[in-house]
Amino acid sequence: MQLFALFGNPLAHSISARLHNFAFENLGVDAAYIKILAQNSNEIKAKFNALCLSGANITLPFKETSLEICDEISANAKKIGSINTIFSKNGKIYGFNTDAPGFLMSIKPFGKINKALIIGAGGTAKAISYILSKSNINVQIINRSAKRLENFSNFTTFTWENFRPNAYDIVINTTSAGLNDENLPLQKDLLFSTLKQAKFAFDVIYGKQTPFLKMAKQLNLAHKNGAQMLLFQAILAFDIFTQKQFSQDKIQNLMQKALML
Ligand code: NDP
Repeated sequence: MQLFALFGNPLAHSISARLHNFAFENLGVDAAYIKILAQNSNEIKAKFNALCLSGANITLPFKETSLEICDEISANAKKIGSINTIFSKNGKIYGFNTDAPGFLMSIKPFGKINKALIIGAGGTAKAISYILSKSNINVQIINRSAKRLENFSNFTTFTWENFRPNAYDIVINTTSAGLNDENLPLQKDLLFSTLKQAKFAFDVIYGKQTPFLKMAKQLNLAHKNGAQMLLFQAILAFDIFTQKQFSQDKIQNLMQKALML
C-alpha cells in the first residue's frame, strides 16, 4: 500500500485528503492520504522518509522553504520559487508546482485575457504571475507593503500609495484578506474603482464568500472563488502520484464529486 500526505500548519481547513482518498478508493488504487502537521521543512523531510511516503502535498507556510528538501525540481517550480507537490522515485525526491497550472485551468472559462492585476505579493502571487506572464498576459501587481514587491522586479508593481485604478480584464485576490476576517485586500475606494472597470474577479480563497467577491457580485462582475483552482492543482498532483495511470477527466469527475460531499 502506498502512503501520501499533506504537510502544512494549520491544516484543519484543508479538504485535500478528502479529494485524494475518494479518487484512490474509486479508481481501485491501494493508497491512503493523510494530514501531517509540521513545524518546518526539515521535519517534513524527516517524516516523509520515516513513513516511507510515496508522495506529498505541501501547503502554507512551507511551499518556499520545502524547495531545499528536493533532489530535483521541475523547471516551472524552480522559476516560481515554490513547490506544492513532492514525489519519491528511485530514492530521490522530485518537487513540482501544480498551483500555477491549476490556476490557469480554472480561468479558462473566462476566455481571452490580456491584462491582469494581482493583489498580494506572497507565494500564490508568485505562482500566478509566473504562469500568466508565460501565457503572454500583461501582469501588474499591487501589495499592501513594499517589501515583498522586491520579488517581482520583472513586473509593474504598486503599493496602495502609488496605485491609480485603471482597466484590467481580470483582478485576482491572492492575499489572505477575507479568509478568517471580513477585510478587503485593497483600500475600499481603490478596489471599487478597479473592479468597476474590470471584466472578471477571481479570489484564490475558497469555502466562503469573501468581501472581495461580495463587492464583485455587487458590481455584477463575473467572478469565481478558489475551489476550482484547488480542484485542478489536486488533479495534477494526483496525476504525478499515480504516474499518469488515469485520464484527467476521470480524476476530475471523482474529485468534483468529493468536493460536494
Ligand atoms: P503569503 O503569506 O505568502 O502572502 C500573503 C499576502 O497577502 C501578502 O502579500 C500580504 O501582504 C497580503 N495580505 C495579508 N493580509 C492582508 C490584508 N489584510 N490586506 C491586504 N493584504 C494582505 O500567502 P500565500 O500566497 O501562500 O496564500 C494566500 C492565500 O491563498 C491563502 O488564503 C491561501 O489559503 C490561498 N491559496 C489558495 C489556493 C487554492 O488552491 N485555491 C492555493 C494556494 C493558496 P504584506 O506583504 O503587506 O504582508
